[in-house]
Amino acid sequence: MKQVCDINKCTGCSACMQVCPKKCIKMLPNKQGHIISVIDEQQCINCERCVKTCPANYPPAFNYPKQCYAAWAKNEDVRMSCASGGISTVLSEYIINNGGIVYGCAILKELEFKHIRVDNIKDLELLKGSKYVYSNCEDVYKNIKQDLSENKKVLFIGTPCQNTGILNYIGKNENLYTIDLICHGFPSQQMLKELFAQVDIKDIKSVKFRENNVRKIIYEKQNGENITICNLSKQRWQNYYYEGFLSKTIIRNSCFECLFSKPKRIGDITLGDFWGIGKKEKFEHSTKNGCCACLINTDKGQNLFNNIKDNIECYERNINEAIEGNHSLREISKKNLNSIIFNFLYPKINFNSAVFLSCFDKILKYKIKKTVKTGISLFQRNKTK
Ligand SMILES: Cc1cc2nc3c(=O)[nH]c(=O)nc-3n(C[C@H](O)[C@H](O)[C@H](O)COP(=O)(O)OP(=O)(O)OC[C@H]3O[C@@H](n4cnc5c(N)ncnc54)[C@H](O)[C@@H]3O)c2cc1C
Ligand code: SF4
Ligand code: SF4
Ligand code: SF4
Repeated sequence: MKQVCDINKCTGCSACMQVCPKKCIKMLPNKQGHIISVIDEQQCINCERCVKTCPANYPPAFNYPKQCYAAWAKNEDVRMSCASGGISTVLSEYIINNGGIVYGCAILKELEFKHIRVDNIKDLELLKGSKYVYSNCEDVYKNIKQDLSENKKVLFIGTPCQNTGILNYIGKNENLYTIDLICHGFPSQQMLKELFAQVDIKDIKSVKFRENNVRKIIYEKQNGENITICNLSKQRWQNYYYEGFLSKTIIRNSCFECLFSKPKRIGDITLGDFWGIGKKEKFEHSTKNGCCACLINTDKGQNLFNNIKDNIECYERNINEAIEGNHSLREISKKNLNSIIFNFLYPKINFNSAVFLSCFDKILKYKIKKTVKTGISLFQRNKTK
């Protein structure tokens, strides 16, 4: 066997590696640092188990959402410390308090992002917040299987492609709850490390990509000191990593062929940002501290969600409102010229230069807009003097 699936469709979920009886699949970085599956052909016995487990070849069943809610955690600390409204944390707390296990993305030492197993409330802190980068799920497959074999409830939270890897590997299981995040793609960990090239990564304890619902990059040093690298609400194109991510310039190829950016969903529950709420149908509550779009896709998801209702503010909304407000619920990230140029340049030249050159049109547009705006406000100020 040469490859498990079309390599441009490989999401790096690592399900193939887990099922291979000869252990001859490795997850390795390509040139841009995106993790892909690589088969050692010498050892392969052509059993095709990898091919049949791969979600890019055989995605699991999709469900159209039964209900849609705008929701956030009643606990303001939880709401403010999470990316959208903290619903993933409230659901995780419920699972742990009922003897279950949660699997989600954490930052380990030296900027390593991995899905980890959490069995206590304190460690849920590690999962809080969206990390806008690839998370390695390699280690969690066997643990999830083991927990389920001991009749424990398991909650897995991740991008839809990570969910499909788990679902294809495990198969149907009443105790397995899945949450898929609305997602437009992720950059590689190699790219994020370039952002911190000037910093001793051993000194980085954690990284935040949002604070109080504002897009920022803040890292915490081992001594607890917080250093803000950028604040996109104040200045766009201040940080090439974040802008490259948002403009879909630095995301992996599989994201341009994503099977999951549509209203029909993979997880029992889908969580994302409830952008555009109240535009068409009045919504009388403030969402400035975060508001999750919660799509309930299965009966299992509905039961789980009902159990947390005392701990959240929650309002039923029309699903079309969430779809209209959220691009990634409607369509796949379109392959753009910026990403083609970026993939050609990087890593021949360093990361920042590659983003700068590939996004020159966007940067120029932003700078012109900003100069014109500043010019107009200066002119108006002088006129009123
Ligand atoms: C890579 C990525 C891209 C996203 N893109 C969009 C988008 O385009 N539109 C949109 O509406 N929402 C997007 N989201 C989802 C959004 O940022 C929130 O995660 C979601 O709304 C849930 O919010 P929350 O406040 O409940 O939880 P949060 O506190 O934000 O999320 C915590 C949960 O997310 C999981 N998680 C964090 N980082 C990762 C990661 N890198 N990989 C897998 N799981 C992770 C953690 O395990 C944790 O359980 C994206 C999330 C990620 C991780
Ligand atoms: S065909 Fe079988 S042996 Fe070969 S890589 Fe796939 S799972 Fe492994
Ligand atoms: S998508 Fe997942 S299962 Fe398929 S080849 Fe890539 S890592 Fe393997
Ligand atoms: S856009 Fe699709 S393929 Fe890319 S990370 Fe998100 S779910 Fe996975």
